Amino acid sequence: MLCLFFVTACTNSADDNNQGKLKIVTTYSIIYDIAKQIGGDKVTIHSMVPIGANPHEYDPLPKDVMEMSDAHVIFYNGLNLEEGNSWFKKLLQTAGKDGKDAPVYKVSQGVQPIYLETKGLEKEPDPHAWMNIANGIKYAENIKNALIKEDPKNKAIYTANATKYIAELQKLHDGTHRRIQQLPENKRFLISSEGAFKYFGKAYGIRTGYIWEINSENQGTPDQIRHVVNLIATNSIPALFVETSVDRRSMETVSKETKVPIVGTIFTDSLGGPGKDGDTYLEMMKWNIDTIVNGLQK
Ligand SMILES: [Zn+2]
Repeated sequence: MLCLFFVTACTNSADDNNQGKLKIVTTYSIIYDIAKQIGGDKVTIHSMVPIGANPHEYDPLPKDVMEMSDAHVIFYNGLNLEEGNSWFKKLLQTAGKDGKDAPVYKVSQGVQPIYLETKGLEKEPDPHAWMNIANGIKYAENIKNALIKEDPKNKAIYTANATKYIAELQKLHDGTHRRIQQLPENKRFLISSEGAFKYFGKAYGIRTGYIWEINSENQGTPDQIRHVVNLIATNSIPALFVETSVDRRSMETVSKETKVPIVGTIFTDSLGGPGKDGDTYLEMMKWNIDTIVNGLQK
């Protein structure tokens, strides 16, 4: 009897706990975490693209459609991220969301875009704005403002959470340029599989190179491999990096051909798994900066 009572009590209290909470849906894990830092226990969040997967292209599940139909707030990156197979646009239509009945917010609003450089794609923005922490702060501010607009009674909590969180991001951002600049000039060159580090490179003063430019395009073609192998040889680049959310085999081929080691795994399009390295946006950026600095100064 006692057990039963407790089970019932617990179930009820879990339901009660979710009562009145703002229901958020995010397209992928990085926005999920920023929204969680600011929303705290006043929100419930469903994130669609799984940890470790690629948000450029995704096949939504029935659960995603359900969550989206119920959502009070929907956050997406924009800047050409969720457009690989138009998955997000199609999902909004399937869930009957036209942007009027449930607010749909682009968290990169106000970010200065950097454009792709591949021939034919020069008018499309590079989506990886969050790799510059100053842009991550913009995401946090946009999310804070959206939560306050949709749930004004918790304004004080969202504001306090955001202020504390943004201060941490700002501290990391402020220290990063100096750390990167302490590397010898000729070693300041970051090679990754996808060209996801343009915003990072511009903000912190490090050249960047890649095998393919964006995860929704052809990946690891012989031409792309040849191009990056030449780039590595010409610039005597000492170390290579590979991302958690891509197939490593292309970078392994590049490493074999150039005899330059892959010295670290870094995060771009996804957080690390819960309880593991890089499981928040702040931690993933710290991890990346440490891994890049340590890997290149050897
Ligand atoms: Zn990407």
